[in-house]
Amino acid sequence: MNTHLHPGTALITGASSGIGAVYADRLARSGYDLILVARRADRLRALAQDITSRTGRSVEAVSADLLDAVDLAKVEMLLKRDASITMLVNNAGIGATGPLLESHIGDMERMIALNVSVPTRLAYAAAPAFVGRGRGTIINIASVVALAPELLNGVYGGSKAYLLALTQSLQHELADKGVRVQAVLPGATATDFWQLSGRPVESLPTEIVMRAEDMVDAALSGLAQGETVTIPALPDAADWQAMENARKALMPNLSRATPAARYAIDLADAA
Ligand code: NAP
Repeated sequence: MNTHLHPGTALITGASSGIGAVYADRLARSGYDLILVARRADRLRALAQDITSRTGRSVEAVSADLLDAVDLAKVEMLLKRDASITMLVNNAGIGATGPLLESHIGDMERMIALNVSVPTRLAYAAAPAFVGRGRGTIINIASVVALAPELLNGVYGGSKAYLLALTQSLQHELADKGVRVQAVLPGATATDFWQLSGRPVESLPTEIVMRAEDMVDAALSGLAQGETVTIPALPDAADWQAMENARKALMPNLSRATPAARYAIDLADAA
């Protein structure tokens, strides 16, 4: 084998089910060795054996609760020290479908920890190593609720909006250092996520639910096409580009020495 062509090792969080397990399959089939991270060791081991037997790739199962500081540090250390790692898929996440005022603040904090703090720490562990080697890819699994916080639970939407902003900022900072960063914004995808979040996926209209396999294949196609932001369900990429153009058009005027004229206080009226 020509080792020069070997794409390296992908570390995937939340690989024991759903979207993460499909990434594991697809990346192994395209030649990556894998490090699979999640809490359920039995599922990770079974997946690792299955993928190795089908693809011949080396697959390591790392059982870790990413909300546990010691386990998280173990995964960070892998990203810092294992020079074979060329890709991080920040996929582990939990959701909520209930309204804010009916949600438990402890659950919201755990969601922020897993959906925001964990991918941030892992990106911080991976990025300097990738920059040092002039090569690497970070994929952040966000959600369409990053753009539609009125849907589902607002803390969940906020956590995914954070990931989108982090991705855009990292891509801006790292693109010329050989590091690719992509945010994937899935719509409703048929996984355990829905049951765990309090609403069975079967309760959703079938026309808005995508198979996890199709979602991941589209996301990897978006990566291959060089997209920073991939919205698998969006029919016309120009719609996203129009929103980006509008956002960028605001930039020159977002910070100025004086308030906008519409906020001028009429002192005569106030007296
Ligand atoms: P899923 O099947 O429930 O997968 C979630 C994964 O996260 C599991 O592998 C789970 O493994 C892992 N995980 C949860 N808590 C963890 C912890 N404390 N430590 C380590 N791993 C943990 O759901 P999914 O749909 O594939 O979700 C993957 C990502 O896609 C999430 O970030 C989610 O927000 C995002 N997303 C999903 C949808 C959708 O409609 N399904 C839409 C947009 C975005 P263990 O339980 O074994 O730890």
